[in-house]
Amino acid sequence: MTTQILEPGSVIGVLGGGQLGAMFASAARRMGYRVAVWDPDPDAPALQLADHSFAASFVDVETRNRFSDTVHAVTIEWENVPASLCEWLELHHPVRPFGSVLRIIQDRIQQKQFLQTRGLPVAPFSILESPDQLSEAITCIGLPALCKTARAGYDGKGQWLIREPADAEQVLSSLYAGARPGQRWILEQFVTFERELSVLVVRDSGGECKPYPAVDNRHEQGILRLTLATSSLPQEGAANASRIAVQAVSALNSPGVFCVEFFHTSDGRLLINEIAPRPHNSGHYTLDACTVSQFEQQVRVLCGAPIGEIKMLCSAAMVNLIGDEVRTVTSGQGYRDLLTIPGAVLHLYGKRTIRTGRKMGHVTFIDEERAIAEERAHRLMKRLA
Ligand code: AMP
Repeated sequence: MTTQILEPGSVIGVLGGGQLGAMFASAARRMGYRVAVWDPDPDAPALQLADHSFAASFVDVETRNRFSDTVHAVTIEWENVPASLCEWLELHHPVRPFGSVLRIIQDRIQQKQFLQTRGLPVAPFSILESPDQLSEAITCIGLPALCKTARAGYDGKGQWLIREPADAEQVLSSLYAGARPGQRWILEQFVTFERELSVLVVRDSGGECKPYPAVDNRHEQGILRLTLATSSLPQEGAANASRIAVQAVSALNSPGVFCVEFFHTSDGRLLINEIAPRPHNSGHYTLDACTVSQFEQQVRVLCGAPIGEIKMLCSAAMVNLIGDEVRTVTSGQGYRDLLTIPGAVLHLYGKRTIRTGRKMGHVTFIDEERAIAEERAHRLMKRLA
């Protein structure tokens, strides 16, 4: 079956205007599309690249109607935009991914149950309908364990590590302090992992799925620090990760770009941590090291165009610039030094305010040899530390 392709000149809309929306907008504009960006923050980076800007709350009905009148198709830059908004837009336009996917992904409990019931591997977990159930959940899961809010947590926010029984009391007070009506939590077994990895999967409207190679990720305080492309996992393990990622994305049954994040345990198992229904920080290297980036794939899928070639042109190591670190590499000698490193590609997101933990930009080191790219990334991280 050939689907109608939305051609260059059409207006494609993105809900959310952070760095992911900005990189999507750049890819779309390069391909001749016009871009509408909707974000509640008038300072959102992607609004600077938009042909049509909408700076208003996502529940503003007048903006919703104007946005809908402007666009021919809609995508998202992060999963916490209201699913009901996506579903309303779906009545009028192609929306990728579907709102039904957001409903599953937005709630960690629903997401874990979705994966578990389809036989996909996840760490043992227990559901808390109220903070009172924490001790029962600990008995069930064991320690150490991580307690996470079911909704609206990201980059390690809304998570509490419980190493030993004595930690539980403090966590319990935090749960009570932040509790909202209807709020739920999940207690997950703390996975002792050898490494974290992720697989980007592109799925078109016909159901074809193409994975990018698995990459290794290192996090610090819940935030991605470093991505190494490709993963150093032996080929069999990497192929296994790709297979599971494709299976998980197929189960979601929606076109889009997805990132499946894994733990690789010390006893050799692969467990899915979570799925992002959009381009991912660990896929930023595709901008500089692949023939077609994750953002171009997002444009293609949205427009009903064929999935782009998935081919790495070189190895890559990506380092995030978080909070104040951006100053270290963009001022004085630090800036001069960075610009002289072979294969270093700087991406800054144009955020006006620097905040602790805020992603301000990233540097991708590219080289034919992964070891060289990695070594340069480590040298930069040492300077940042
Ligand atoms: P998340 O927001 O759930 O992706 O968590 C952010 C990071 O916290 C992950 O990439 C891991 O480094 C760590 N983490 C999350 N869940 C677990 C877990 N169950 N066991 C061990 N580490 C975890």
